[in-house]
Amino acid sequence: MPDAPRPVTMDKIVSLCKRRGFVFPGSEIYGGLANAWDYGPMGVELKRNVKEAWWRDVVRRREDVVGLEAAIMMNPAVWEASGHLAGFTDPLVECRACHHRFRADHVESSTCPDCGGELGDARQFNLMLKTFLGPVEDTASAVYMRPETAQGMFVNFLNVQTATRKKLPFGIAQIGKSFRNEITPGNFIFRTREFEQMEMEFFVQPGEDDEWHDYWIRERLDWYVRHGVREENLRLRPHDADELSHYSKATTDIEYLFPWGWAEMEGIANRTDFDLRQHSQHSGARLSYFDNDTNEHVTPYVIEPASGVDRAALAFLVDAYDEEEVGGEAAGAGAGETRVVLRLHPRIAPVQAAVLPLSRNARLTPLARDLFAGLVDDGRWRVEYDDAQSIGRRYRRFDEVGAPLCITVDFQSLDDNQVTIRDRDTLLQERVGIPDLSSALADRLG
Ligand code: ATP
Repeated sequence: MPDAPRPVTMDKIVSLCKRRGFVFPGSEIYGGLANAWDYGPMGVELKRNVKEAWWRDVVRRREDVVGLEAAIMMNPAVWEASGHLAGFTDPLVECRACHHRFRADHVESSTCPDCGGELGDARQFNLMLKTFLGPVEDTASAVYMRPETAQGMFVNFLNVQTATRKKLPFGIAQIGKSFRNEITPGNFIFRTREFEQMEMEFFVQPGEDDEWHDYWIRERLDWYVRHGVREENLRLRPHDADELSHYSKATTDIEYLFPWGWAEMEGIANRTDFDLRQHSQHSGARLSYFDNDTNEHVTPYVIEPASGVDRAALAFLVDAYDEEEVGGEAAGAGAGETRVVLRLHPRIAPVQAAVLPLSRNARLTPLARDLFAGLVDDGRWRVEYDDAQSIGRRYRRFDEVGAPLCITVDFQSLDDNQVTIRDRDTLLQERVGIPDLSSALADRLG
């Protein structure tokens, strides 16, 4: 546990997200749609960075993982075979008095958390959202919005293997939207009915699955730490036998200490050969791997790291949130004022460097604009230009969106061809020659 109480609360995160353009309530001008959220200019960058960091480490940097983008709507036979039609359910209980509904495994007693009334018996509720394709709403045209991206990888196992000639072990990864008719969505973007997943199915020789499971648990935990999440706010939680999904032999969750407590951010499951076998049986296609060494067909086992983009984004925001009492020009705050700052990792931060001319001025503006254009053309950085309001207010804004660096162009810059780099975390200000700016940024942003 952290030594000092963390300054972060969900109210502060939700309000910062609205104020600075990370996340807005969905369809707000129509009164909203419960638990639907829209990502604003900062949020979309943050989310994109989370996905890019994942794709970079899980796909691009590895020779044993390839990417895929499957359609969201799949043949309904997929969900029959995968067991989701029969088994992708949560236990639902309803209060006999106020009729509010809860997930039975989320309530602690048989009394209603809202009104204290008596809760009825649990019944299984299927989480898949259904819709109809074409003009006729009959059973023949019913399809499901995928509740996980994983099945896209399983049904394309042969296509990918044939196209890439990958040898075991190898993985297929995908990022995309999934949908679940959650009984109790909530906690901001933590649990919604429409969300985005980053999933990878890693196919291994049966017998090597336990080892690879351990490998991916470590690798995924490290990934969050490498991207700045504090270790003390992360923990691993192996599932008890009675909570395992219908396809899983073993699952370990990576949990994050959110303001309301520990909760799952990612699950790493050993899905065995369940899915490939089911699809082989149901489709008639032989979803196996021919092992040239033994001249035998094997049905690979699958290790699946499955994470949520929205949950990861929320964890990054919560973990980065800080407040400190500082005063002075560099802080952009008066003495004794509170500075709110997101200490986001440079790879995750929506803006990496802000170019700030001290004021709008016929001599400063062209220099600052030039410098900005040069950094944009460089292509390595996410840069913003801002010349509105006082410099202090601008520092505050860029602290609140987590920009690691501000580059200030002042009147002295006109004479000495230098600018000031202000560090978000240390508040140190350093003069750097404009020709050296690119390498100064590379040193600081990694
Ligand atoms: P929970 O127990 O919280 O309902 P789960 O165990 O059903 O989650 P998985 O099926 O393991 O979740 O899905 C993998 C990941 O997808 C989760 O770790 C989470 O990050 C994300 N995810 C799942 N459901 C949602 C949701 N309703 N909203 C946002 N993200 C979700």
